[in-house]
Amino acid sequence: MLYTAGVGHPVRPLRCHAVFPAALPHTRVISFDVEEHHRIEAAAGVAVPVGSQRAYGERMERVTLDLLDRLAAANVLATFFVVGDIAETRPRLVRAIHAAGHEIGSHSWDHRRVHHFDPKSFRDDLLRSKDAIEQVTGERVTGFRAPTFSVTRETGWAIDVLAECGFEYDSSIFPVRHDRYGIPDAPRGPFIAQGAEQELLELPPLTYRVAGVNLPVAGGGYFRLFPPAIMRAGLQQAARGEQNVAMLYFHPWEFDPEQPRLPLGRLSRWRTYVGVGKTTDRLERLLQGYSFRRAIDVARDLRTETLPRYRVAEEVKAAGVALA
Ligand SMILES: [Zn+2]
Repeated sequence: MLYTAGVGHPVRPLRCHAVFPAALPHTRVISFDVEEHHRIEAAAGVAVPVGSQRAYGERMERVTLDLLDRLAAANVLATFFVVGDIAETRPRLVRAIHAAGHEIGSHSWDHRRVHHFDPKSFRDDLLRSKDAIEQVTGERVTGFRAPTFSVTRETGWAIDVLAECGFEYDSSIFPVRHDRYGIPDAPRGPFIAQGAEQELLELPPLTYRVAGVNLPVAGGGYFRLFPPAIMRAGLQQAARGEQNVAMLYFHPWEFDPEQPRLPLGRLSRWRTYVGVGKTTDRLERLLQGYSFRRAIDVARDLRTETLPRYRVAEEVKAAGVALA
């Protein structure tokens, strides 16, 4: 069935249920963005010797295997957004994640933000990463998380490319105000992101709305910096809405307090390493206190026809031309 979005563009049909099931009750997703520590955005432009890169890779692998043990002990299935290059260089790790029953999504080929690409080169990067992961797992990759949540107004055309490449959902739009990312007025719960010509289900990271502002409480630096009560308040607030999904995110390197520090500037250094000694205990408490599902399972249970639609692409015509 082809139907029409608000401004009259033909859009790719979303899956419709023949018989409408009950709305999805509130649920939670735990996700991990799997990249080696030296690939983080804060280290862009920092020359890291090859030997150190390898060492970060080995540490990342060890920590990820430890996370798999912790998830298994808590009987939790998660979603891992993996950098495609890791599927090629460390296939055993990717196979171990997959064999444990977790979902594997794409986290780009080598962790460059979407802003570095145009639609064509982004498509190449995306397919390269998708193919590398699929070669290892034998299963289709259907979820995407952009490095540093870099699907923003400027890069809204990424929604079209993701939909064209067969992705079922994206989790890259952070509805917050931040110097590096975010679309502050995007919906806080699941929504249908509209590109220039295509639509895609979006699962935004968890925010806590207080005094008219969306506080990012989904994980990463916020998880390390804020007291755990703030994330719990965000989880409670999200739990009040049906069809709501509390999407949390972490990185393996955040659970490795002993790792050698990257030579970063003062602000980046603080942002990167604040609270790294507390994360493992905090994660354990989350795993014991809440139930979680894989993003793809939640995505397939959502009644997409009832979700809000939100136009992401900044310049509809310009993006359309660029895609042609
Ligand atoms: Zn990342």
